[in-house]
Amino acid sequence: METGLSRRSFLTTVVGGGAAAVLAGCAGARITSRPGLDLLIRDGMVLDGTGSAERRLDVGIRDGVIVAVGDLASATAARTIDAKGLKVVPGFIDIHSHTDLDLLKNPFAPSKVRQGVTTEVTGQDGESVAPVGGPGMPESLRAFQESYGFECPYRDMDQFFSFLASQGCTQNVLSLVGLGTLRAVTVGFDDRTATQAEMTAMKEAALRAIEQGCWGASTGLEYTPGSFASESELAEVMRGLPVEHRLYATHMRNEDNRVLDAITEAIGIARASQARLQVSHLKAQNKVNWPKQETALRMLDEAIASGLDVHVDRYPYVAFNTGLTNLFPLWARDGGTEKFLERLKDPSLVARLRAEVQRKVDGLGSWDSILLSSVKVDEDKKYQGNTIQQIVHDESADPYEFVVALQLREKADVGMVGFGMDEAGTEMVLAWKNAMVASDAGPHFPGDGSWPHPRSYGTFPRAIAHYQRTRKITTLPDMIRKMTSLPAEKLGLKTRGTIALNMAADIVVFDYDLINDRSTFTDPHQFADGIPFVIVNGVLVVDGGSQTTAKPGMILRG
Ligand SMILES: [Zn+2]
Repeated sequence: METGLSRRSFLTTVVGGGAAAVLAGCAGARITSRPGLDLLIRDGMVLDGTGSAERRLDVGIRDGVIVAVGDLASATAARTIDAKGLKVVPGFIDIHSHTDLDLLKNPFAPSKVRQGVTTEVTGQDGESVAPVGGPGMPESLRAFQESYGFECPYRDMDQFFSFLASQGCTQNVLSLVGLGTLRAVTVGFDDRTATQAEMTAMKEAALRAIEQGCWGASTGLEYTPGSFASESELAEVMRGLPVEHRLYATHMRNEDNRVLDAITEAIGIARASQARLQVSHLKAQNKVNWPKQETALRMLDEAIASGLDVHVDRYPYVAFNTGLTNLFPLWARDGGTEKFLERLKDPSLVARLRAEVQRKVDGLGSWDSILLSSVKVDEDKKYQGNTIQQIVHDESADPYEFVVALQLREKADVGMVGFGMDEAGTEMVLAWKNAMVASDAGPHFPGDGSWPHPRSYGTFPRAIAHYQRTRKITTLPDMIRKMTSLPAEKLGLKTRGTIALNMAADIVVFDYDLINDRSTFTDPHQFADGIPFVIVNGVLVVDGGSQTTAKPGMILRG
């Protein structure tokens, strides 16, 4: 910097002077003889992320850190943003993200960054990118090579983090370790109890992933092989982690007819292991189950009253996104993809499979409640964005037979969107005091050939524009809190999530009147409006509404 002041002495100047006084509420205090800043955000209405009311403040950034907050009228900076009329908030922390390996295809993660996401929490739903090993290893290595065009360069989380850091990324990334991944590596894909030796191996592997920088653990108990783990197995693995890393983020065993049993199990695991519970994308699918959402929240309230640390996350949409395989019962998926595809072809199983799939579809409503999202095979691309009802109507086909043929062509790798939730329940969950906003999505970009759920582009703007500004389910400061300080606290991420002195400079500047999600189920590749500036570690990654080529993201190791 031109003054030659070290960051330490500058911080001392600021903290000892006017900015601290302004933070304490004495508006009007001034700081003089300020050395230059890298970036100055002037005249914005700052919502600091804690839920406090907005205040007109300037924010000064240097070396990736917020070094001044207050009236910085006399400050000089290499770059000044005039934020008059705009909101200045902490960068959004996407606490349930599926970004994982997508950064290898596009390190700029446009659909996420353009909506204000500055930190992504990956390794969700029981699946982390590492460790790589066990009986599924040859298949994972082959799939990696096929998807990315080079040999998988890592085997554990440490190597993955180093690899990602060497490539660089726009936003910050951190990860949980997936307990489903650990089961695949140590036990395999079969539905059976882990042996004592396998339990020991799983606990060691979990601990190693934590030591290598994971922040906690996740489960995906509707997915194989994670679903083959019992409540006691999961509690035992969690208990083996250091207390500060016992964050248990769970895609529960059931999200429709047995969702309340699943809540009981999740609370049981948290209690038995003294873990911090995070119920992923809390919802009750299917109309008949919608009233259970209120019961679920009351159960979680009681768990909190009994001393547990409990949060949920939720994306602001009434449709979920999952694999089309989830229409099929768990027994059909036992043993992995090859066995699943064999069962689909087995004539002796057709009647039973058809009946069970139809029951799932009836629960959702009809085949019109299921929209095909991502497929891989070219001839199937024409189906993307259509409901199965629309497709079979056009082709005069039987819906079950169409789905089976599709699964076989696509090797069971098909994405679906299910319109299974209600607006009232979505609002109730999002408004709950310990609910955090999350995308549950990976990053996309126009032209990537995918058909993503609109949450990949619109989660955070939609929560603000639709659920706060229009529906008023909570105040704006509280909605911002659900995207910033709340997830930071849940993670134990102490240097992000609020706008305050010494915090990392992850910041979003948006226009409250203009912010809007534009991505829809039928036209998903649309960036949101009204977010002119996004800053990651003090560097502009969205400038004047366009994404820059900067990759200032850091791999955050817990
Ligand atoms: Zn999930």
